[in-house]
Amino acid sequence: MRAPRSLTLIGAGLAGALLATLLARRGWHVDVYEKRGDPRVQGYAGGRSINLALAERGRHALRQADADDAVMAQAVMMRGRMVHFLDGRQQLQRYGRDDSEVIWSVHRGDLNLTLLRLAEDAGARLHFHRRLERVDFDGLGATLVDDRDGARHAIGFDALIGADGAGSALRAAMNAHAPLGERSDFLDHGYKELEIPPAPDGDFRIEPNALHIWPRGRYMCIALPNDEKTFTVTLFLPNAPNAEGDPNFAELTDPAAARALFARDFADALPLIPDFDADWAANPQGQLATLRLERWHLDGRALLIGDAAHAMVPFHGQGMNCAFEDCVALARHLDDHADLEAAFAAFADERRPNASAIQEMALENYLEMRDRVDDPDFLLQRELERALHDRHPDRFVPHYTMVTFMRIPYALAHARSELQRHILEDATRGRDALDGVDWDALDARVLRELAPLPDDA
Ligand SMILES: Cc1cc2nc3c(=O)[nH]c(=O)nc-3n(C[C@H](O)[C@H](O)[C@H](O)COP(=O)(O)OP(=O)(O)OC[C@H]3O[C@@H](n4cnc5c(N)ncnc54)[C@H](O)[C@@H]3O)c2cc1C
Repeated sequence: MRAPRSLTLIGAGLAGALLATLLARRGWHVDVYEKRGDPRVQGYAGGRSINLALAERGRHALRQADADDAVMAQAVMMRGRMVHFLDGRQQLQRYGRDDSEVIWSVHRGDLNLTLLRLAEDAGARLHFHRRLERVDFDGLGATLVDDRDGARHAIGFDALIGADGAGSALRAAMNAHAPLGERSDFLDHGYKELEIPPAPDGDFRIEPNALHIWPRGRYMCIALPNDEKTFTVTLFLPNAPNAEGDPNFAELTDPAAARALFARDFADALPLIPDFDADWAANPQGQLATLRLERWHLDGRALLIGDAAHAMVPFHGQGMNCAFEDCVALARHLDDHADLEAAFAAFADERRPNASAIQEMALENYLEMRDRVDDPDFLLQRELERALHDRHPDRFVPHYTMVTFMRIPYALAHARSELQRHILEDATRGRDALDGVDWDALDARVLRELAPLPDDA
């Protein structure tokens, strides 16, 4: 018989709560320490990004924990991007072929609550008001602080899993013990959230089943629906003045300056945000970064997952989806290896190249969202992409589909997207329509360069 197996999770956010559920159901003794208070008692004190786009990778992970139905009951379907042009025109660009290929807007707080309930039902022990402060890896002990009164609590552990997000305290402790090869690249753009409330009749003020985008070249606004008929608007802007003279957070020193920017660049959005000045003044300006580590674990004593291991910029809407995929992969490796160090190593070997691929794709997608979605070349390439997908359904699969509606490894999606991008660019160069495209040559190139994709996902 195997020895009793216990794991101590740091962070009861999205990844921590899901992982606790998956592990507790497999018979692990799971303790989860979270720095905030219990959101079931005092309401959710999220802090950032009120809603998130949930895609197939995330939904698959939720299904493993029987959480999908509860989460989907509060999710709002987004069929595509609704592009808002400067002149007020709008255009819906579908993400997939039909309503089987859509993404879902979910509320971070509701999702977290659902997952916490499941974790506790599965037998995980949740400890709130416990902020990891210090770890003694040699003595297998840690100190946690209750920030309400500063009281310190000592615990022992067999192994720690860090699901404590981008600013991970466990990562800092591991790095101090044995360097992880850490590099953080801060984006020179930040974000701020605003709210579109329901219309006076209680309904949504704009099309609910879309992710709205106001692309403006080097900056943009987006809006995602919430099931209480509001939208969360996120403005992405350079942090500081740049050579191009773009608007930037440093120069928007008060709500009036920000309002003037909206009146100029996001004129159709401004009247939808009645509490603009109050939202602007109250909501913090968020920073965005890509975190890369050479090592994710300290032998069998500690491992990082989710944002703690690979925080990324949010432009592909995959950070949570990737963190959920981590949870499923880790549970599988723990099933397959009796030895924790072997399980952690196998997990990191599998996930590191994939996290790195989605981090790159997320950076690339910022350019696409803010600059390309209203560009005729881009739209022609999308038309050709759809046509090639119809001609070669198992070989030429659109980039967005591979990342969002499938579960093939991110690294494979990235490599295939690069090959496909060259094919699309070569075939549309100098054209403003698909008439005259040499389909025979294109078909031959697709057959030569793109092997059929595995159909397991
Ligand atoms: C603006 C924005 C928009 C985004 N949009 C999307 C999207 O549309 N789709 C998507 O998939 N992803 C999106 N993401 C990414 C997503 O938010 C993260 O990838 C996801 O939250 C990662 O989950 P996590 O559990 O690793 O970390 P978190 O969700 O950050 O959870 C970490 C938890 O650890 C706790 N904690 C922190 N420090 C300690 C400590 N010292 N001791 C104990 N507990 C601690 C925190 O309180 C928190 O509960 C977005 C991110 C941002 C910033």
